[in-house]
Amino acid sequence: MLSNTITDAINAQINAELWSAYLYLSMGMQFEAAGHPGIANWFKVQYKEEQAHAEIFMNYLNSRGARVVLRPIDAVPTEWACPKCAFTDTLAHEQKVTAMINNLYALAEAEHDYATRGMLDWFVREQVEEEETAKSMIDRLRLIGDNGYGLYMLDQELAARTFAVPAPLAAKA
Ligand code: MG
Repeated sequence: MLSNTITDAINAQINAELWSAYLYLSMGMQFEAAGHPGIANWFKVQYKEEQAHAEIFMNYLNSRGARVVLRPIDAVPTEWACPKCAFTDTLAHEQKVTAMINNLYALAEAEHDYATRGMLDWFVREQVEEEETAKSMIDRLRLIGDNGYGLYMLDQELAARTFAVPAPLAAKA
């Protein structure tokens, strides 16, 4: 059985993952409107990944007989001045999410809740990847600078990104 503290903390994390999904969808819509369909695609895939993260946490609460409580999702920004600006915000946001996952992990350890700690291991690894990906996009956009052809090539490449069901959800299917 999950403690109320852990249940509340996971419900807060579900809200944060859905906020992340909304943030990346907003970025996707901005780049759709700005004529960067590949960058828009990258963010729309990211939006689906964040929804999947929320779903993993929801499945976990359900599997432990705890109640998922969906709270209002705060408003997200709607404008980014450039692609690098959006990826810079993405990195900063993912660093915040990493801190939240680490806090959850510490809470699970403090409560000797080893099932929750084990479930979180996948998220700890996922955050390493999320931060690395955002950082590499910033690096690439820095190299591209104001080279329009470079940006066009990156946009073409990002158009190919497809959504892959994360392992914890795939295992459940
Ligand atoms: Mg996430």
